[in-house]
Amino acid sequence: MLSYIHAYHAGNHADIIKHAALSLVIEALKKKDKPFTIIDTHAGSGIYRIDDERLRKTNEFVAGAIADAGIPEIKSYADTARKYAESGEYPGSPALESELMRDCDELILSELHPRAIEELRAAAERFPHKPRIHFRDGYETAIALTPPKTKRGICVIDPSYEDAGDFEKCAETIVKIRKRWPAGIIALWYPLVAHRIMEISMMKERIRAASQKGEPDILDVQLEMRSPAEMTGLASLYGSGMFIVNFPYTIDEKISAAMPKIAETLSARSWSVDTL
Ligand code: SAM
Repeated sequence: MLSYIHAYHAGNHADIIKHAALSLVIEALKKKDKPFTIIDTHAGSGIYRIDDERLRKTNEFVAGAIADAGIPEIKSYADTARKYAESGEYPGSPALESELMRDCDELILSELHPRAIEELRAAAERFPHKPRIHFRDGYETAIALTPPKTKRGICVIDPSYEDAGDFEKCAETIVKIRKRWPAGIIALWYPLVAHRIMEISMMKERIRAASQKGEPDILDVQLEMRSPAEMTGLASLYGSGMFIVNFPYTIDEKISAAMPKIAETLSARSWSVDTL
């Protein structure tokens, strides 16, 4: 039973780090003429209304400030967020991917929540590039569809981590994808929640240990909004991270330049960019 609904959290600090990093990877892939494939395993509803009651209730939406901050490294993300804001909306990862990709590129989306898949199908009618949508477990989709025919591309994994088993599932799936598709880029979003620190570090270590290159090929980007000690509830999100396996070498400088500006705009506590 899936209970997580992204409409409560769209455009929050976690979406910003995830979508900003994703836009940088897509821009790097576009530097070559050859087509690429994006596989988004946990797609969500695609497009979110900023005036949605659920979003207003959590008061988490901060993407407007980032879109207006004029951070040059993440211009394509900010431009897309501003374009959607004109009609009172925020682009989820599928909308952002579709907006940034080219006609020759391919988009594959997977979603398992019955309501979210309906919303995703309706949203996709408005995307500039038509995706292939699977009402299927995202981990299964990723393994079944890699390597894609294009050979180049990115697998975006953004679970809700409702289930503690998601940490292990992510590591297991990424290890399998790397074997099947050594050249594929994998972008994994992960939450920073105090009671899951052990699971997070075990997940990262398992993914890192499966690296086939002799040099660091993983970028680990983190944004901490608060210190763990400040958070009251056990499950409170004090920040989040993006783990980018096989990261394009052009993006680490860009993300390192963008992070202090993102952190300052959001009044975040700290940020970090590490290569592993
Ligand atoms: N990636 C989206 C974005 O950035 O706009 C947000 C995704 S949200 C954090 C996670 C989504 O994964 C939810 O819509 C949830 O219904 C879906 N989900 C949960 N378990 C799943 C699974 N095993 N396979 C596919 N989707 C799943």
